[in-house]
Amino acid sequence: LVAEYRERTPTSETLHEETREHIPSGVASTSRQFDPYPFYIDHSDGVYLEDVDGNRYLDYDMNNGAGLCGHTHPKITAALHDQLDEGTLYTMPHGLLAEAATELKKRWSALEKVRFTNSGTEATMHAIRMARAYTGRDKLLKIEGTYHGVHDYVMVSGTPPKGKAGHPNRPMKVADGHGIPDKTVETVEIAPFNDLEATEDIMRDNINEIGAFIVEPVMLNKSVTPPQQDYLEGLKDLCDEYGIVLIFDEVKTGVKVAPGGAAEYYGVQPDMVTMAKSIGGETSVGAFGGSDAIMDQISNDYAWHYGTYNGNPFVLRALVTALRDVLTDDAYQHVNKLGEQMKSGYEDVIEDAGITGQVRNVNSQGMVQFTDANITNYREFMANINDDFHRLFWFGMVNQGIIPHPYGARQQWTISVQHTEEHVDETIEAFKNIAPTLADE
Ligand code: PMP
Repeated sequence: LVAEYRERTPTSETLHEETREHIPSGVASTSRQFDPYPFYIDHSDGVYLEDVDGNRYLDYDMNNGAGLCGHTHPKITAALHDQLDEGTLYTMPHGLLAEAATELKKRWSALEKVRFTNSGTEATMHAIRMARAYTGRDKLLKIEGTYHGVHDYVMVSGTPPKGKAGHPNRPMKVADGHGIPDKTVETVEIAPFNDLEATEDIMRDNINEIGAFIVEPVMLNKSVTPPQQDYLEGLKDLCDEYGIVLIFDEVKTGVKVAPGGAAEYYGVQPDMVTMAKSIGGETSVGAFGGSDAIMDQISNDYAWHYGTYNGNPFVLRALVTALRDVLTDDAYQHVNKLGEQMKSGYEDVIEDAGITGQVRNVNSQGMVQFTDANITNYREFMANINDDFHRLFWFGMVNQGIIPHPYGARQQWTISVQHTEEHVDETIEAFKNIAPTLADE
């Protein structure tokens, strides 16, 4: 399959060799790096990506989940063309700030005030600072195996290696790569997902020390690993009891698993929310917010939030158009219906071909897992996910012009508002074609 991939993508290979001389691994974010080389994009259009060799791909990677509106959505493109004529950056305030904040506040009742950032990384970084300032406590609690971007505080135990991460109930703190000071790592505590008892033990042992608890309410950086019944409510209760600010990192779940993210879907409002990706209609915008009391620390410079590009009119124009005009109730009904179609389509083929596997999903967000195990946390994910098998599946689909999800087993498909039933049928047909090969593995 990889040989076939190479044959289809010679220009990408050449461009990769050239780019690698200037850019580490030839990619702008390390997640896009894979063997033998990634294909290079010429342009995007609706639900398609076209590479530099003229191959057209039906795309469910959708910018690592940032593409709920699909590529080049006509309403967003038109709004951005207008905004180009009116200016892309004013560091003075403007009318879109309140409009954009209002759109987010309609979706999360936890949000009394929000501030904008340029990425999810910045959103989690600032939210954690606000929580620490508000509580006057230095420590951060996070879940083993979760990804919240690439500032130092969250780069602890995002991907601890198998067998080197301590007891499952008391995970060790492992820095994600070098360059993160031990002193920073010491300020972070790690809990297993879906385990309230272990979480409470950690809170008790660090009493009056933990100021912030950041959690991705559905682990969408470990395939699709949902919270068990009552887990999120339990976390909220524990945080209230121990005086900790609960932050839902809804960079991926937000505006996707439901219009108001996982908070709406599971009926639990945290103290703070971080957002990015699909809120921006394919532009780079993030946001964080919470109660007046937490966010008003910014107003008097008690806790800082600055940034030249924050809330610029270009990205906020896209955000307002996406949330108000594209991601309507009908749009959610549409993507959720296609999600069900995709799930049952994959399941039927898995069963007919005798492949070990299942589909995990929350509304339109789903992923094929080639295992029978019911994965509930990072350790179980690492023990059961078969990366080699996923690689075969992925190349088998890509060679047929379909990107089933971002490369690897760790993310999931994104069905955009521009996908149709026919696209999903086409996807399942392609899976049928490679099913015999997979069944033989
Ligand atoms: N939080 C979560 C849950 C994410 O999935 C990501 C990105 N994959 C981030 C934060 C960081 O967002 P960004 O890539 O925009 O910095």
